[in-house]
Amino acid sequence: MKSIWHDTLPLPSYPSLPGSIRTEAAVIGGGLAGILTAYYLTRSGIQTVVLEARRIGSGQTSGTTAKITAQHNLIYQKLIAGFGEEAARQYVSANQQAIREYTRLIRSKSIDCDFQEASACLYTRLPGDALSQEYKAASRLGIPAHLSADTELPFPVRNALYFPNQAEFHPLKFLKAVANGLTIYENTPVLSAKGHHLHTPLGEVTARHIIFACHYPFLLWPGLYFARMYQSRSYCLSLAGIPPLKDMYLGIDPGGLSFRSARKRLLLGGFGHRTGIIPDNSYQRLQNFVHKYYPAAKTVSHWSAQDCMSLDQVPYIGPYSFLEPDWYVITGFNKWGMTASMVAAQLISRKICKKPVPWESVFTPRRIRLKASWREAMTHLSESSRGLALGLLHPNRRCPHMGCRLKWNPYECTWECPCHGSRFSHQGKLLSGPAQTSASVPSR
Ligand SMILES: Cc1cc2nc3c(=O)[nH]c(=O)nc-3n(C[C@H](O)[C@H](O)[C@H](O)COP(=O)(O)OP(=O)(O)OC[C@H]3O[C@@H](n4cnc5c(N)ncnc54)[C@H](O)[C@@H]3O)c2cc1C
Repeated sequence: MKSIWHDTLPLPSYPSLPGSIRTEAAVIGGGLAGILTAYYLTRSGIQTVVLEARRIGSGQTSGTTAKITAQHNLIYQKLIAGFGEEAARQYVSANQQAIREYTRLIRSKSIDCDFQEASACLYTRLPGDALSQEYKAASRLGIPAHLSADTELPFPVRNALYFPNQAEFHPLKFLKAVANGLTIYENTPVLSAKGHHLHTPLGEVTARHIIFACHYPFLLWPGLYFARMYQSRSYCLSLAGIPPLKDMYLGIDPGGLSFRSARKRLLLGGFGHRTGIIPDNSYQRLQNFVHKYYPAAKTVSHWSAQDCMSLDQVPYIGPYSFLEPDWYVITGFNKWGMTASMVAAQLISRKICKKPVPWESVFTPRRIRLKASWREAMTHLSESSRGLALGLLHPNRRCPHMGCRLKWNPYECTWECPCHGSRFSHQGKLLSGPAQTSASVPSR
């Protein structure tokens, strides 16, 4: 089913690549990250094209809950411990600047995208001091924050951590406005890249600068992003008949329930899992919650989406690999791609324009942060090795990306790769990458 955003807004369509072209910059991917990056590059006078495999805004951006916030779950204690205080300050500053830039851009261009200020709130119903610790870390980094047990949620909480002056919007209305005036080619998948050349079925694009904003980079080499990221899938319901919430909420307890209101609906999300490792029926679990806490509510629509999870919880934004000096990458948003897309757009456009980039080092894909990433790295290595080994035993259900065994998700009726998160329809048609071709799968 389509998300609330797609249901309320058809996006305009753009032509396909007309044949081989030359340009200064080529952005691969027309999600929020790609369109924003193309916008800032174009505004800086760099001739830029966007190459989108399907339609703009048809990827994970259409399934987001679109909270624009620097409150990224429990991150600040971990950042200080794993990256150090200076890097944690850079992360805060980049994300706070992103919120300010959204506000400036939307107001200055009068973009009608349901943008409104709201507080972001992490809550817990369990005993423990995780939120107090996060509050201390946030305060140390200069984030205005406060603790309170008062929320608008339909159950009592033990504690809640508020960040005021955050925001929310309609991501596709925003995307549509920002895309207006850019050079965009839809239905133009990039199949391979070499130096300054991108190969598509419709012609070759030669570009001085190449930006991979295609969610999960599809090339195995260089960059080795397959070894540094997995994907995590979450589920959403849109509910009618519930008074609107003023603020946005995320639970830190198991299930990680997320709440925000939009267009007279409550968006309830949660019960995420590593893509391809399928637990119970997440939609049913959300419905059980609704029956218990919002018995009068009506479920209007449901959908799911997934995001790339870096191993140290920080996105990869910057030079793609030292082997390709004119390539850049934007990925690994850890489900916080609204502010991260804005950070990326500013960072990459400034870098290409040779302007100073204040927060480059915390996001650089060249970093190695063993202290912050070793646990996730072990899990990723073990899941990937298992998936690859099982792929050898099950040649009739192998992912075309690297050959891992695909798992059947009965709740979405999709085949999913537990190693890197590619997804396919019941007939094996490609739904989302890093795989770039369909898979051969048993009939269902
Ligand atoms: C359930 C859920 C809720 C979320 N809620 C929030 C939230 O409240 N706040 C927040 O900050 N973040 C949130 N996120 C995260 C956020 O939605 C994502 O990080 C963000 O939308 C990713 O944008 P993107 O542009 O990188 O990817 P996408 O939107 O997926 O765009 C990538 C594009 O690249 C194209 N592409 C792929 N391969 C190729 C190719 N070879 N050639 C050409 N084009 C290609 C695809 O078709 C796609 O259109 C949420 C994520 C999930 C899963």
